Amino acid sequence: MVLADQVCKNYGALKVLKGVSLEVQRGKVLCLIGPSGSGKSTFLRCINHLERVDAGRLYVDGELVGYSERGGRIFELHPRQAARQRRDIGMVFQHFNLFPHRTALENVIEAPMLVRGMRKKDALEKGAALLAQVGLAAKADAYPAQLSGGQQQRVAIARALAMEPKLMLFDEPTSALDPELVGDVLEVMKNLASEGMTMVVVTHEMGFAREVADTLVFMDGGVVVESGPPHDLLENPRHERTQAFLSKLL
Ligand code: ATP
Ligand code: MG
Repeated sequence: MVLADQVCKNYGALKVLKGVSLEVQRGKVLCLIGPSGSGKSTFLRCINHLERVDAGRLYVDGELVGYSERGGRIFELHPRQAARQRRDIGMVFQHFNLFPHRTALENVIEAPMLVRGMRKKDALEKGAALLAQVGLAAKADAYPAQLSGGQQQRVAIARALAMEPKLMLFDEPTSALDPELVGDVLEVMKNLASEGMTMVVVTHEMGFAREVADTLVFMDGGVVVESGPPHDLLENPRHERTQAFLSKLL
């Protein structure tokens, strides 16, 4: 579902991604860890068209992200084509960015109606079902300010799911939450994974990674230092940098 082959990204002279290679099979969960500034968010942003890859190849569901290939040459995609690719990817950020003047349900139905042209009646029905799925059936008419951080984040997840994405990206979805609110959000993500959603999750919740991830990737300095099944990486990290990072975390 995701294939990164030597992906590079620079901001001016700053080389942020220096050849990231990894793969996520359909229905699998990849957790990404690494020190601050190692390029984790930048990598997710490249997958989701928020940044453009400078070199290397990045594929989602077999399609080159943001480009097309013809006769061995690479062309930038028309914005309409890029938008079509992007529609299939859901992203959840650390800060939930809900529309403050819309209710939970209105937040969830916005994109399917606007982008997918879904009829309001269908969108409302689907939105209500998604809010139920994230445990917020009773909060459909609440405004973001009336919800806890964890509830807002679950609305954000429902909102992303409303577009029926084939891939979900999570960038530290629980790190802005009070500790007692983290569990509910992780539970929703765990359920999503068990239903077969393909997910890339930047997180430092090692319990979640150990239980849910198929692959754990440790990134540092813009490259993948080490990756493997979570228990291997956590119990027997091979690289010194991985060991040093984990010892600070655990
Ligand atoms: P954190 O754990 O703190 O979220 P991260 O691994 O997600 O870190 P990134 O946000 O990907 O790291 O940032 C990687 C590097 O790229 C950092 O040095 C950051 O300052 C730089 N960077 C990120 N976005 C931009 C930008 N838009 N312009 C210039 N530099 C940027
Ligand atoms: Mg980040």
